[in-house]
Amino acid sequence: LIDCGEGTQMQLRKARIRLSSINNIFISHLHGDHIFGLYGLLSTLSLLGRKSPVNLYAPEAFEAILKVHLSDFDIHLSFEINFIPLRSKDPVTVLSDKHVTVTAFPLKHRIPTFGFLFREAPRERNIRKEALAMYQIPVHKILSIKKGSDLELPNGETVPNDLITFPPPEPVSYAYCSDTQYFKKLSALVKGVTVLYHEATFSAGEKELAVKTGHSTSDQAAAVARDAGAKKLLIGHFSARYKDTGILEKEARSVFPETYCVTEGRYYDISNLDTF
Ligand SMILES: [Zn+2]
Ligand SMILES: [Zn+2]
Repeated sequence: LIDCGEGTQMQLRKARIRLSSINNIFISHLHGDHIFGLYGLLSTLSLLGRKSPVNLYAPEAFEAILKVHLSDFDIHLSFEINFIPLRSKDPVTVLSDKHVTVTAFPLKHRIPTFGFLFREAPRERNIRKEALAMYQIPVHKILSIKKGSDLELPNGETVPNDLITFPPPEPVSYAYCSDTQYFKKLSALVKGVTVLYHEATFSAGEKELAVKTGHSTSDQAAAVARDAGAKKLLIGHFSARYKDTGILEKEARSVFPETYCVTEGRYYDISNLDTF
């Protein structure tokens, strides 16, 4: 779960996402629209009797705040919170397992704020069904073939790996850049990302206001996507002043055509860009 504003629990229910499936919570910064839903969510997880720990990645100042909140409100959670403080000025890998690597990197906002880059781990090669039958590949060789080994036949012949396997799909990645003003280095931090989410609080004409409030304009978000070589850009976090966000999408598309305004409740599959 990335950020947890008010209403997150309701949206998760609407989207039919099991609360128990959330094991890692990433908080970009301590402004209310990104965190006010967290206390309620943690309490609900506890009411549901959760036992396994939750990993919570958040700016370092939040550790003390959470402690005080839990003790002042006499909340005794049924599970441990494993707090991972974010403080580095450089990108740092905060999570790495066989599925995904997550890097946190600093953004430029009014208070310490972090973006997150999620990179899918490369998958193993797939063995061709017909090769399994043709060469009677024994089970104990399958693992190493999936990792790229050639197949040694009993008669001493070698079958090259690429004849019996086919490559997995390219690993995909997703970068989440919540509240930030534009800075040139950001595109390098998310270089080559498949899908970039970037805030676009203001329209292109409001650059001064954007800098003053620590936010970005639509065309600045698009410039980050273009310079990073992203495949798709999702923009969101629009100022309430824009009744029609189509104008922001149009501005962004003049810089980066593959831009989409996020629609609440819509499902975007980063492994299938046709869903955009
Ligand atoms: Zn903010
Ligand atoms: Zn915000």
